[in-house]
Amino acid sequence: MSKKQITGQAMGHNGIINYEVDVQDNKIEDLKILKHSETSGIFNQVIDKLKQNIITEQSFDVDTISGATVMTQALLKSADQAVADAGVTVHPVPKKAKPQTKNYRTDVLIIGGGEAGLVAGCRALSMGQKVILVEKNGYLGGATILNGSNVVGTGSDVSAQIFDNNHDTPEMLAQDVARESLETNYPALTDLMVHNIGPAIDFISKFADLHYQKAQTQTPEHSINRQIELPSASSYEFIQKVSKSLCCRGWSNLTRHAGRKVDAG
Ligand SMILES: Cc1cc2nc3c(=O)[nH]c(=O)nc-3n(C[C@H](O)[C@H](O)[C@H](O)COP(=O)(O)OP(=O)(O)OC[C@H]3O[C@@H](n4cnc5c(N)ncnc54)[C@H](O)[C@@H]3O)c2cc1C
Repeated sequence: MSKKQITGQAMGHNGIINYEVDVQDNKIEDLKILKHSETSGIFNQVIDKLKQNIITEQSFDVDTISGATVMTQALLKSADQAVADAGVTVHPVPKKAKPQTKNYRTDVLIIGGGEAGLVAGCRALSMGQKVILVEKNGYLGGATILNGSNVVGTGSDVSAQIFDNNHDTPEMLAQDVARESLETNYPALTDLMVHNIGPAIDFISKFADLHYQKAQTQTPEHSINRQIELPSASSYEFIQKVSKSLCCRGWSNLTRHAGRKVDAG
């Protein structure tokens, strides 16, 4: 029985990534990240997926994760070299031929796994629809994962409680948007947003067990306090909790698939 813990370094997007590969009898057992300065929300999902592929295929010659291609490529190359330098010869599992096309049937197809797509998926599922979501990146969250989760809660029961019924209204929010954008906003879109953000916040809070609170930062340009945020002040929490709720309710999530050809027949 020979167990080895092989450490190495790879250049990530934001700096050096320190990692450890655990090998037992020439079998890759684990990939541990010891230190990194990447964006945690994206990085954790990417590493989970990459690790799973490496262990399943017993190889570092696996696909990079789209959306994090350069970082995963650097990590795979470095780990491959480190393992070879440690005198370990891994035995890759023979690759199966990949199917070129696959057909799916669904009631609702959502393209894009950012907050808009995820909330739409939750809503459709709650209405009894079968949902498939495709996401071109190897992780969910899109640009959303980078934001601080700070949103306006106007019109929601959640905000009414947080701000002790401070009399905020959709009309006040619409006026603030129009004034601050120097009337360059699209009134129809503003109208849609101000009347739906409240019900959307109430819906998703209940669906995914989110606990919004008063945001640390209140936008001074707004005529009233109305910003709410999640306890972690990060939408990584939003993505994690919402996707977990979706999984519990039986959705299909196809990451690393780009929505290109849709037959609506
Ligand atoms: C640093 C930062 C901080 C921010 N802070 C805040 C804030 O505090 N409050 C706030 O309200 N807003 C904030 N924003 C803006 C907010 O994050 C975005 O408006 C919001 O995330 C957009 O959500 P979305 O779902 O529309 O898009 P995204 O989250 O970008 O999701 C779109 C998804 O679609 C996928 N996709 C695209 N094309 C395809 C295809 N053909 N096939 C499959 N998948 C596809 C993308 O990969 C992506 O995952 C911030 C933005 C940034 C970058």
